Amino acid sequence: MERYDVIVIGGGLVGSAIAYGFSRTRLRVALLDEGDVAFRASRGNFGLVWVQSKGDGAPHYQHWTRRSADEWPALAAELEAKTGIAVGHERPGGVHLCLGDAELEARQAMMERMRAQAGNFGFDYRMLDRNELADVLPGLGPTVSGASWTPYDGHANPLSLLHALHKGFAENGGRYFPNRTVTEVGAASGDFRIQLAGGEISAPKVVLAAGLGNADLAPHFGLSAPVKPLKGQILVTERARHVLPMPITTVRQTVEGSIMLGDSQEDAGFDTSQTPTVIQTIARRAVLSFPWLRDLQIVRAWSALRVMPPDGLPIYDQSERFPGAFTANCHSGVTLAGAHVNLLAPMVAEGALDPALDPLSAKRFGVSAAA
Ligand SMILES: Cc1cc2nc3c(=O)[nH]c(=O)nc-3n(C[C@H](O)[C@H](O)[C@H](O)COP(=O)(O)OP(=O)(O)OC[C@H]3O[C@@H](n4cnc5c(N)ncnc54)[C@H](O)[C@@H]3O)c2cc1C
Repeated sequence: MERYDVIVIGGGLVGSAIAYGFSRTRLRVALLDEGDVAFRASRGNFGLVWVQSKGDGAPHYQHWTRRSADEWPALAAELEAKTGIAVGHERPGGVHLCLGDAELEARQAMMERMRAQAGNFGFDYRMLDRNELADVLPGLGPTVSGASWTPYDGHANPLSLLHALHKGFAENGGRYFPNRTVTEVGAASGDFRIQLAGGEISAPKVVLAAGLGNADLAPHFGLSAPVKPLKGQILVTERARHVLPMPITTVRQTVEGSIMLGDSQEDAGFDTSQTPTVIQTIARRAVLSFPWLRDLQIVRAWSALRVMPPDGLPIYDQSERFPGAFTANCHSGVTLAGAHVNLLAPMVAEGALDPALDPLSAKRFGVSAAA
């Protein structure tokens, strides 16, 4: 039996961020990943490092998201220095476009609520009217009435991020086990055993970061992870000259010049098919925002499943029944990568989650962490 200090189950953005964070210490870390048959949000997302709409009515989530966005520049620089992979992180601020006066009024009310809820932590935002916006973004459609802006938002290449986290983890001595679907586990406080095809591995700590797989795995460890799939579809245009200086909630230009359009939200179970009506809606809204997009060819489109907790906020817990077993679940794994590497991994390594994360326990759904 191979013995590790910690086993991470799930090699998507959440698991690999936490595993990379561990691997920077002297811990011996195993990262187990299901492989190509899995649902993997980390390979099908939009790539925003997004803050401005996170945490209306839940200021603790706004704090966590902002802290993560603040960790991002250092993380991106560290990953590039260590692995040679540029993850394309930029933080020029971001805007949410409003089409028509009703959307603009609703957005302003939400942003003002979030400012009030932030208290001393502050929430720096501006509403831009159409004229101010036109100075920043070229070729606005006639129905664009304005936008909200914050300096906190940015974007990155999520595939490069995933690659860099895996490469950095391996270079730090972490052991990656691909194509290992965890089904059989032995859980006892401080002694977790996982059956793999080649034998058993064990560790005093385990982190469940298997995305949608967490829902089934968690009860084995006395945890609860009531995550469900929420489908999103994305379109990508051919490369264009650089015209968008900052990301927009549903339109962003990559470093390479492609323009990504997204991103829908459909409760469709585990169905990952693409649907023409949704694709049309995405394209229509994008063209209403920027009519010149009509001249660009769509070169790719896909759908992927978000890992969605019931209230949209992350779930972090340590098992009360089996201390040493932790779970991490979220629908913003790109945005939260900074926090997962630099803040969450050290907490788990120390053996306790920061009480600031208590409101993000699954207990808020009326389930015990020791389900
Ligand atoms: C369309 C779309 C757009 C998005 N846009 C953004 C965005 O702009 N910004 C942002 O921050 N987030 C965005 N997200 C969300 C982000 O992609 C997810 O939060 C993130 O990828 C979740 O990562 P994860 O590691 O938890 O899950 P996943 O990527 O699903 O990975 C889970 C991993 O666990 C493994 N696994 C599952 N079960 C088992 C098992 N039993 N044993 C071993 N391994 C297992 C799988 O192989 C997989 O690799 C978007 C998601 C979608 C779908």
